[in-house]
Amino acid sequence: MKVRTRFAPSPTGFMHIGNLRTALYSYLFAKHNGGDFILRIEDTDEKRYVEGAVDLIYRTLKASGITPDEGPGIGGEAGPYIQSQRKEIYAEYAKKLIELGGAYYCFCSKERLESLTDGAGNHKYDKHCLKLSKEEVEEKLRAGEPYVIRQNIPLSGMTEYEDMVYGKIAVDCADLEDNILIKSDGMPTYNFANVIDDHLMGITHVTRGAEYLSSTPKYNLIYAAFGWTPPKYIHLPAIMKDATHKLSKRYGDANFEDFIAKGYLPEAIVNYIALLGWSPKDDSEKMNMEELIARFSVDGISKSGSIFDEPKMKWLNGLYVHELPVEKFSEYSAPWYDKSAIAGKYDYKKWDELLISRIDIFSEIPEKVAFIDEFGEYDTDMYFHKKLKADPENALIAIRAAIAAIAPMTKFDRESLNEAFAAAAESAGIKKGLLLWSVRIAVTGVAVTPGGATEMADILGKEETLRRLDFSEKLLEKRLCNA
Ligand code: GLU
Repeated sequence: MKVRTRFAPSPTGFMHIGNLRTALYSYLFAKHNGGDFILRIEDTDEKRYVEGAVDLIYRTLKASGITPDEGPGIGGEAGPYIQSQRKEIYAEYAKKLIELGGAYYCFCSKERLESLTDGAGNHKYDKHCLKLSKEEVEEKLRAGEPYVIRQNIPLSGMTEYEDMVYGKIAVDCADLEDNILIKSDGMPTYNFANVIDDHLMGITHVTRGAEYLSSTPKYNLIYAAFGWTPPKYIHLPAIMKDATHKLSKRYGDANFEDFIAKGYLPEAIVNYIALLGWSPKDDSEKMNMEELIARFSVDGISKSGSIFDEPKMKWLNGLYVHELPVEKFSEYSAPWYDKSAIAGKYDYKKWDELLISRIDIFSEIPEKVAFIDEFGEYDTDMYFHKKLKADPENALIAIRAAIAAIAPMTKFDRESLNEAFAAAAESAGIKKGLLLWSVRIAVTGVAVTPGGATEMADILGKEETLRRLDFSEKLLEKRLCNA
């Protein structure tokens, strides 16, 4: 039988890392097994519906490279794939389930239901309406009395199943309530719609969060009442913020689009979240989608929650960034330069070459380039360098030699700068390393820069390089005079 999995998000807001992981595992499982991956929008809870959330789901899946084989806007034989468009289907199956004894009409008033709440606020429906005769029910329906449809759960006995991750899950029916399957507005609840849809859409494996682990036996009772075979279940461990707190969408933790806005690459996010609760047998960490598909298997899924570790995601993102083709890097980096202190001032391409190996996420760019425009009075102790035997005195010699070499230059690029610096070191009788060290500080005023003297001078251009060298020459003269 062809494997069919689905991702069934509710359009209630952000596309949270947890949702995306569910989609990803479902997709990986289907693709590893040569199956189909289906997208279904679960929008039956109108109160929780958030405008724009459906588009966000499509956008996020697209950006992540998780492509449904069937779904809204894609089509497929099991559609429609949006639950609010399947109301009649649920009504039809609810009626069938009533005939089969798996559900019943309930006409109880709000007041009556509230009176069933015990002192501790616990509430359990008492199957009151199950006692109504067929005639009584028909009479009430004819009179237009509002109703819901409830699941008829046996009063005793165990209901159980074998989860592919968590093993045997057993629940005592006595602990379950006759949940509402169809609400008074005719809309199904999740409890009903998930069963009907997974069955009608031919889903063979249901992948979803572990919060559904203990309600699944209840859904299986519906399958049993219809005489259907339930799908296999792959429940996924929670993603934790720390040892005790789950990541939660309510507090806006860990949204896919927020990470994109912070300068993460979609493929790195996907790679990282694949590892949140699963690991391949060979312990690989950097894996693209193809490699994930090839390695994915349910026995690598852990039962315990995994902690979302942003520094690790950042590190992984860096591996992807460092191997981007420069042109691709430039596409991503441009908006970050535009937001930085150097906006529109220097040749971004020159920065790209320096930064591609030095940043992990693009949002690091503004702080990495800011120094170039903060040039001014600085601490000349910076010139001391033990290994190079550098100090303010020989730095002054180096700077003077560099000025003399740069001033007559007509071509000002890296190659000619390199030659000029080599010649300057030679004429001053100092090591090239010492000269480059001194010049780099002299033109930037900082000890750590991306790139050396040549790259910095090339970015600054001849005029600004000379202006800064002059400034540094004076600064050193002042120091040495006072010494
Ligand atoms: N709509 C449910 C959710 O977003 C889906 C659960 C499931 O996959 O069955 O949590």
